[in-house]
Order: sequence, then C-alpha cells, then structure tokens
Amino acid sequence: MHRRRFRNAPRQPFEVGTAVSIPIMKRQVSIAALLALLREQNSFVLSSHLRPDGDAIGSALGLMHLLEAMGKRVSVVFVDPIPANFDFLAGRERISRTFLPADAAIFLECDSIERSCIDREEFEASPPRMTINIDHHRSGREFADFNWIDPEAAAVGCMIYDLAVAAGIAISPAMADCLYAAVLTDTGSFNYPSTTAATFAMAEHLVRCGTDPHRIAAEVYFSNSASKVRLLGVALSNIQIAGPVSWSHITLEEMERVGASIEDCEGVANHLIGIEGVEAAVFLRETPEQDQFRLSLRSRRTLDVSVIAERFGGGGHRTASGCSMAGTLAEVTSRIVEDLRQACIPVADTGESVEAPTLPSILLA
Ligand code: 5GP
Repeated sequence: MHRRRFRNAPRQPFEVGTAVSIPIMKRQVSIAALLALLREQNSFVLSSHLRPDGDAIGSALGLMHLLEAMGKRVSVVFVDPIPANFDFLAGRERISRTFLPADAAIFLECDSIERSCIDREEFEASPPRMTINIDHHRSGREFADFNWIDPEAAAVGCMIYDLAVAAGIAISPAMADCLYAAVLTDTGSFNYPSTTAATFAMAEHLVRCGTDPHRIAAEVYFSNSASKVRLLGVALSNIQIAGPVSWSHITLEEMERVGASIEDCEGVANHLIGIEGVEAAVFLRETPEQDQFRLSLRSRRTLDVSVIAERFGGGGHRTASGCSMAGTLAEVTSRIVEDLRQACIPVADTGESVEAPTLPSILLA
C-alpha cells in the first residue's frame, strides 16, 4: 500500500487513498506507461486550473472524449466558470462544479491539486486510488502519483493528441475540436515560440479528423461579449510604458463600470507585449480581496518571466506567467515594474530580442 502526500499543500495536505498495485512509482511516466495505467482504471475525474483557459478546457474535454472512446467512465470538474467563448465545445454541458468519485483523478495544465480549487472535503470523502498530472508548464511540479510534464509541448492539448495517437484511437470531430481549440489558444494562434512543424502537422491532422478552423476561430476570437471589448478599451487606455517595460491595470470599479467579469480580463496582457520596443509587460487586475492583485506577465523570448512569477508564488511559461501580489495598486505596480526592468537589463546588453506575436493574430484570446 502506498500513500503519498502532495507537495505544496497548505496546512493539512490532501491524501490519496489506496494506491494501485503497479510496482513502478516513477515520478515521470512515459506515454506507454501512462496508457497502461489508464487502461487499468474504469473511471476518471478530470480537472485543471482555476480561471480555466482554452488549453485547460480543450485538453480536459479532449481527454474526456479519448477516455470515453476507450470505454471508460469520465467526469470533468471545473470549479470556476467556463468562459462563454468555449461553450461550443462538445461535452461542455457535462462539466460539473463538484468533485465526483473515480478510480483516478487527472489534473491537466495545473501545478497542484490546490490550484484546481477542488473542494478538499469532497476530495477526501472519496479519494481516488491514484492521481495523474499532465502538464507542459516550465514551472510544472511532480505533485501527483504519476507525472507527465513536457515543457516542450506547445499545449497540453498536443500531449493529449499524442496520447490518442499512441492509443490508436480514431480522433472524432468532437475530440478534434477540443484539441484544436487548446492548441490554437495556447500557441497564441500558432505565433508563440513553442509552435513547430509538429504543431502544424497536428493541426492539419485535426482538420482532417473533422475540425473546422474557421468555426473554431469564429467561436473563440470573434464571439466576444461587448463587456470584454469595453474592458479592453479601459485597460488599453491605462497603459504606461517606461523603456522596455509596459504595464496596465484594471480596478474593480472599472470592471463594474463596463459590466465586465473576471473572465473578460483573459488576454489583455497579450496586447501589452505587442508594443514595439517592449520586452516585458504586466497586466494587474484588482481582486475582491482588499489590496490583492492578480498579475499576468508577458515577455519576448529572451526574458523568462516564469522566474519572476515564481518569486511571488506563481508560475507559468517563459513568455507567459502569472502570480498574485499583496499591496496597494501603487506598491504592487512599482515592485513588479522594477523587477521586470531589472530583468530586462541583460536583454538590452545582448540586444537579442525576438519578435513577440502581435495583433491581429492574438486578438482578444
Ligand atoms: P495568465 O497570465 O494568462 O493568467 O497566465 C499565463 C500562464 O501562466 C498560463 O499558462 C497560466 O496557467 C500560468 N499561471 C498564471 N497564474 C499562475 C499561478 O498563480 N501559478 C502557476 N503555477 N501558473 C500560473
């Protein structure tokens, strides 16, 4: 019997229940080992991080379709609301907000069980026999019983695609839509440095499997609520630029004024890094907790903002990361802008800058 405490757990950590009888407890598993594990379980509960984005939703629903094609029972749990521009994905209506018992819990694109915001009591009332972590973040952590972390993957959706191919499962149009939406959004519409020939080969295969790129783009990028566009207008008018750093913020009062929700803030940071000469950018969103801000950090390729995000307990990718910070708007802004400015100095010295994706391809995603 194997019981393992999750790392990074606050006060009373979650615990998993009775472990599987598989002798290997390697922290990193191969696709083949993961497939063998999946085949031995009957039921799964899938989840991802709070404030889910396209890769979180698309990879979770894509994996749901894959596991169901393998004859498994699957539920998908997201505690936070799903942005309306992903409502069209098949299986969206089955997403639950409460944790459901299963043989295995799979966390996608998420560096801890805590970050999924799954209710601790619900989880502990019927703990899964094993936890599995599938992630592509540079800051990804081996918190689960079985971990598959590939920072080279352009999206977790690409890893689920590889899993489907390895499993020999025919990719249905529904699964193709989910995986295409995941990779489209997490590569900034095939703009980010993670985009390779393999990414395009996968996208081409998904189109042949039945996905319609025009329809997905129309749903994801051209179905924004008026409040989201108005919020972008406010955020853009708040932009400040000092040398290689740009920043902007949105207060609760401003959000309320344009009738915007938290999900409407998704993607604003991408506009800040699209400014000529800017190497690093940060978008600050005031949260309902007093003197607390959510930060979205962006950079061009030479600067690794995940290192800065990790300093404040966050994480993410080299060019896109996030974290929370406490303080007034002025305090938080001056602290993060100074950190970004310092981080930019070596970039300025080498002069090695790589073009960031610019509008219109990233649009509001
Ligand atoms: P965004 O700025 O769009 O919220 O997030 C950019 C990237 O950083 C995403 O891949 C997101 O998952 C990751 N990220 C954002 N906030 C956090 C955080 O607090 N912790 C970790 N580990 N990753 C984060």
